[in-house]
Amino acid sequence: MQLLLFGHPSAGIDTIGTRLSNQLQLSHLTLSEVLNEATQRGSQTGTTLKNLIDRGELVPAAVLIDVIHEKLKTTECSAGFVLHGFPKDTSQAQLLDQLLHELGRPLTLVVHVQVSAQILLERMINRQICSNKSCNRIYHQLAPPHQDNHCDLCRSEVVFQLNPELNRDLTLAKLKGYCDRLDPMIEYYQRRKLLSIIDGNNSDVTFANVLDVIKQIRGVF
Ligand SMILES: [Zn+2]
Repeated sequence: MQLLLFGHPSAGIDTIGTRLSNQLQLSHLTLSEVLNEATQRGSQTGTTLKNLIDRGELVPAAVLIDVIHEKLKTTECSAGFVLHGFPKDTSQAQLLDQLLHELGRPLTLVVHVQVSAQILLERMINRQICSNKSCNRIYHQLAPPHQDNHCDLCRSEVVFQLNPELNRDLTLAKLKGYCDRLDPMIEYYQRRKLLSIIDGNNSDVTFANVLDVIKQIRGVF
């Protein structure tokens, strides 16, 4: 089973991806981790990627696809995967489809977790970050630190990442930027009849709803 998850920042995608991969025994692929792994592996693709990152250059979609291809060939991904963080626009979505088609492993389902702008805004401005610069782990309402105001990893103090009042406009602008990129992707996967839209406003029930949709199609695949 090949699943793709996407949504706005603070839609809780990472948490859902982790839980899905555990429950369905699928490999959990986030773009940032796949890239990180590739630069450490030292393959030709990984070296190309590392050089681009070191020079501060934008990584072309073709290189991202090569890195994902390399990862998908590993035994870790043979039972299937839950991917998120990629694609970020429709041209990347087309490249991904092409790759998965060539591998004979097309996407089974694409889940868009939809959250209202108002709730996203609240979640984004309430994002907290570990004050230890070498850690900088992010926390938010859906995944707060286990112990109040102290980082789970390094025990340093956790602080608000943004000043809520000062950054409301900035956060709104950022949100709009994401919508402009995501909306065409929603249409793209809708046209391909792969898309399931899940209401992500109530984080207590979102995961169960995503799982229900997957169970419904599991009988088909
Ligand atoms: Zn920390």
